[in-house]
Amino acid sequence: MDSKRLIEESQKYLFKTYNRFPVVFVKGRGVKVWDSEGKEYIDFLGGVAVNVLGHCHPKVVVAIQKQAQRLIHVSNFYHIEQQVKLAKLLVKNSFADKVFFCNSGTEANEAAIKLARKYSKLYFGNDRYEIISAFNSFHGRTFGSLTATGQEKIQKGFEPLLPGFKYVPFNDIKALKSAVNSKTCAIFLEPIQGEGGVQVPEDDYLVKVRELCDENKLLLILDEVQTGMGRTGKLFAYEHYNIKPDIMTLAKGLGGGVPIGAILASEEVASAFEPGNHASTFGGNPLVCASAIATLDVILEDGYLLNYCQRVGAYFYQQLLKLKEKHPFIVKDVRGKGLILGIELTKDGMPYVQACLEKGFLINCTAGNVLRFTPPLIIKEDEIDKLIEELKKLMRENL
Ligand SMILES: *Cc1c(COP(=O)(O)O)cnc(C)c1O
Repeated sequence: MDSKRLIEESQKYLFKTYNRFPVVFVKGRGVKVWDSEGKEYIDFLGGVAVNVLGHCHPKVVVAIQKQAQRLIHVSNFYHIEQQVKLAKLLVKNSFADKVFFCNSGTEANEAAIKLARKYSKLYFGNDRYEIISAFNSFHGRTFGSLTATGQEKIQKGFEPLLPGFKYVPFNDIKALKSAVNSKTCAIFLEPIQGEGGVQVPEDDYLVKVRELCDENKLLLILDEVQTGMGRTGKLFAYEHYNIKPDIMTLAKGLGGGVPIGAILASEEVASAFEPGNHASTFGGNPLVCASAIATLDVILEDGYLLNYCQRVGAYFYQQLLKLKEKHPFIVKDVRGKGLILGIELTKDGMPYVQACLEKGFLINCTAGNVLRFTPPLIIKEDEIDKLIEELKKLMRENL
């Protein structure tokens, strides 16, 4: 089907939940994708922080092919080899003792909310159920996660939301302290706010949050759906801060492109869920777990990719800083860690996204005026240079 017709039918048959660009991608390899007209693009979006190893990494492709031939789905009524292997890998490389698999970020966060409430009821009684999250956060679109998401524009129209949530400004330990009371059961944060415009907290913020949680016996839930799986140059962002969460949620990069989410917790917290308390039909099926194992194997191989992500991320950051020096009236701020980077503009970011697309670069804009870059962790310096050159050109034209 030619792309013009496909776009027409897309508009005819699909819900209008996305403002899509008029492009149809048909192939991807590494950091490159090609559209139906044969035009090549460098992907600085990575399917929104999903394609950590780039498109169609050979090890991931082979793992999916092999597993698809053997067994795609059974049921969580039975033990699943790939699920156990993946859980073991995650446990060995994190703070956690136990893993539950689901299919997306929002589902992982729903599970985290349920688990925190259950745990708190078990140990502290029925009146301790409030969860504090941050303004400007993003935790997903189902009701629990939507309620935890401290953004009116995302919640509007769907009220009433779930009871028992409170919001504080991110990176403000005082506000957090004064929000805690006898009803609080958990603090729920992204280590770096992704959709909120790549907001990086002070180095000691999460350390202080951890202390606050310990003093008040609160659970610290970290949403690492976007920051996890090597994105920040460590396997998980919490590792930068020498702290451990009690519950962590993952999705996006976890499966190397296939839909999978997970919730990780310590033994004590995980054991609050008993048989029958939580479930997912597809959660952790053999196919997605095989893909996730292959992805994690490559990320962890000799620590090479994580170190590379730190180095190339630092290079990218420096180039963005130079861009800011050159165009201080357009670039207001440069933020991020590893390969989750953003530049805050003094103006709407959408024209830049549009112009970059035309020039063969996929980027996106969050929070209205923040250009966000979450490329595959294998992005190279010369590819970064090409994007920076293009951004320079566009800024010179004062787009
Ligand atoms: C994307 C995202 C989610 C939601 O994930 P879905 O898979 O789209 O449900 C939740 N939290 C964070 C931090 C995210 O970036």
